[in-house]
Amino acid sequence: MADVKPITIIGGGLAGLTLGIGLRQRDVPATIHEAGSYPRHRVCGEFISGRGQATLGRLGLRELFGEAGAVSAQTTAFFSATRSTAPRPLPSPAICLSRFTLDAALAKRFRELGGELLEGKRAAMENIGEGTVRSTGRRAQAGQDGARWFGLKIHARNVPLTADLEMHVSPRGYVGLCKINGGEVNICGLFRKRAGENGETMNWRELLRGQAGSPLRARLASAEFDESSFCAVAGLSLRPQQAAARAEICVGDAITMIPPVTGNGMSMAFESAELAIETLASWSRGNMSWSEARQKIAHDCDAAFARRLAWAKWLQRLIFTPTLQNPLVMLAARSDWFQRLGFERTR
Ligand SMILES: Cc1cc2nc3c(=O)[nH]c(=O)nc-3n(C[C@H](O)[C@H](O)[C@H](O)COP(=O)(O)OP(=O)(O)OC[C@H]3O[C@@H](n4cnc5c(N)ncnc54)[C@H](O)[C@@H]3O)c2cc1C
Repeated sequence: MADVKPITIIGGGLAGLTLGIGLRQRDVPATIHEAGSYPRHRVCGEFISGRGQATLGRLGLRELFGEAGAVSAQTTAFFSATRSTAPRPLPSPAICLSRFTLDAALAKRFRELGGELLEGKRAAMENIGEGTVRSTGRRAQAGQDGARWFGLKIHARNVPLTADLEMHVSPRGYVGLCKINGGEVNICGLFRKRAGENGETMNWRELLRGQAGSPLRARLASAEFDESSFCAVAGLSLRPQQAAARAEICVGDAITMIPPVTGNGMSMAFESAELAIETLASWSRGNMSWSEARQKIAHDCDAAFARRLAWAKWLQRLIFTPTLQNPLVMLAARSDWFQRLGFERTR
């Protein structure tokens, strides 16, 4: 192993852990620094959809989901305050598993493969040098175009759903309801706060329950919330960025965050990690320079993600235009093609 250079990964979320697993499978020494500890809840719809599922298969991680009790989402339905669609089959099934379980399972697998995982210490981000990969997740941004984006998540029982994934839109944001492991439902929303808006109207419980009289409010009328699962995140940046513009080698949200409405961010975390594995293993064995590795990984990630990021940007804009929400749900109710288009182009 003397001529194999070690790799340090900053951030033990999905991208960092997947990368670490892939490197260990190729006998590359890998250390992950994680600021938090496992298990922990994350703000996430917990709906894994897209090409990242194939990545999990290639890395031998699919059975880990079955062992952890993941459930398959096969159908979806959309709702505004006054309109709804009938449940329809998803163009391809999604895997749904709580991040509480998933991140801990990946961390365990990484350690079983001989990886070193250092928990509970935030690594300094200045002067990330050769041999260190950034997988620190989203980059915080105070505001964007006069608005601030924030996400909320909680698990609950006793939530009767008409489809495996329900999407509820409202002028303030949207909430996704998704069946997950353990008989629970994940309730996760993305919201926008405009400059000068009254903070008192931002009670998390009220935001997640939806407007009075809405289908969302009815769905959650008898919900038994698991308060320990509640989490929130603010300062989200949803403007697409290119990996080539980053000074470091990045994977996952550290490159860019795809609007969560697509349900594709976790897939991008898995995919970007996979795209980096062989190139980093090659650097580790002395077959290329760090600069060449950075350029190749950035090029591969940008080529893989450019189209879906462009479509996702428009989808996000449409969903957050209040006057378009009812027409969009009506269109989705009438047109299978419209739903498929939005789904397929963003993954
Ligand atoms: C509201 C909302 C809903 C979403 N819903 C979905 C969905 O349904 N489906 C989907 O696919 N995606 C969804 N996403 C996106 C998804 O959660 C992310 O794309 C995914 O978590 C990215 O993984 P990551 O590993 O890049 O980052 P993260 O999972 O955020 O991991 C980054 C890790 O780095 C650690 N870290 C950061 N800085 C340091 C440091 N200096 N030192 C050490 N450790 C550090 C953090 O503690 C964290 O554990 C959603 C996101 C939001 C906000």
